[in-house]
This record gives sequence, C-alpha cells and structure tokens, in this order.
Amino acid sequence: MASAEIDSPLRCTECGYTIPDEVGARCPECGTLYDENALWRARRWRDLRASDARLLRRWLLVAGGVIVIYALGAGVVGQSAMLIVTTGIALSVGVAGSLVMGALASLAAPEQQRLVLRSAWLRALPWAHGPWLVIAPCSAIILSLALLDRAANLNGSITFAALVGGTIIWLVASVLLMNKAYKAWSRVMNDFTGAPAKYATLAETICLLLLVVIWCGSMIVGFLGGGLAAGAALNLAGLF
Ligand SMILES: [Zn+2]
Repeated sequence: MASAEIDSPLRCTECGYTIPDEVGARCPECGTLYDENALWRARRWRDLRASDARLLRRWLLVAGGVIVIYALGAGVVGQSAMLIVTTGIALSVGVAGSLVMGALASLAAPEQQRLVLRSAWLRALPWAHGPWLVIAPCSAIILSLALLDRAANLNGSITFAALVGGTIIWLVASVLLMNKAYKAWSRVMNDFTGAPAKYATLAETICLLLLVVIWCGSMIVGFLGGGLAAGAALNLAGLF
C-alpha cells in the first residue's frame, strides 16, 4: 500500500479533486478510474485517523477533569495547597508520559504498522488508566455515604461496608478494564493487519508490555487515591 493512499482528505491523483464518500471508484471531476479496494482501504485509513484525533481530544478532556478532582481532593484531605499542585503535576506527567510511551515504542515499526500501533495504543490506553480514573466517582459515593452515616448516627457501619465491598468490586473491575484494554488493542490490530496471530513484532510486544506497566501504575495510583478517600470518609463518619 503506497503512503499516498492514506492521505486525508482523499484526493484524485490526476486532478486533485477531493473524492466524496458517496462516489464509487471513478473521480467525478476528471473520470479517472480507481481500484475500488484501494479506495476502500484509503477511506478506512482516513476514518481511523479522524477517529484517533477525536479519541485523543476526548481522552485528554476526561483525564484532565479527573486530575483536577484528584488534585483538589488530595489538597483538601492533606490540608495543603502545595499538595494540589504536586498531585496535579504528577498525574499530568503520568497521563502525558503514557501517551509519549506509545509514540516512542511504535517508532521502531515501519510507517504503516506504526500508524496502526498508535491507533491501537490510543484505544487501549484509557482502559488501562481505568483503575485510577474510576476512583474519583467512587470516592464521591463513599464520602456521600459517610455523610449519611454521620447524619443517621450509624457509627460508620455503612461507610465500612461500602469500603470493603467497594474495594472488592474495584479489584475485579480493574482486571476487567485491563481485559477491555487488550480487546480494544486487538480489534484495531485485527482490522488493519489481517492475521493477528502471525503479526507479532518487537514494537507490538513492547507496546503490550508497556500497557501492562501502565495498568499496574494505574492500580497503585488508584489504591493511593482510594486510601486517601477512605481515610477521609472514615473520619467524616466518625470512626476515627
Ligand atoms: Zn480526478
């Protein structure tokens, strides 16, 4: 596949006219006939790259939002403005670093495979980050329950039960999230490279290993964040 085929938008190589999607294999301007399969492939590439850009924007928005919640939460629990800044910076570096990791790991691959690897990375990454991302809404639930606990004078029994149950659910969910990451990864690899089982290169192996490393880091950050929220909730419920 020539690299001209993955240019976006799709242009006629003869007259430069942008070929609309509804049009078949013939350029509506100059009438040049194209290979239908090549055109189909080119459109898939273009769509993949467009959805990559959309995904990246959405991912940065979600991660950025959760980082703000985390940083503020850490600052409130630790009673320190400095903690807001350091938590925010540390998490931002983690999110940006994991994006860079995929870009670097795929560098060794040839151009076509590099694009596929980066798309797969972009789709798998948010799931691998899941274990710490879900802690933000979980913390909000736990803190609300702790308030309820205190209001109803239940001596922290609701909070304690929610913490034990929540931890178990979080551990199971985290494993499922890594599984989702791998599935999202495989889907792109299967769609764009054909035979996936035979298509295991060094760059792909490194990317998959890094994905597991990121997931582990995500578990650690999630555990720390959850621990902070749990301490605050138990305090709120009057258990400490
Ligand atoms: Zn043309």
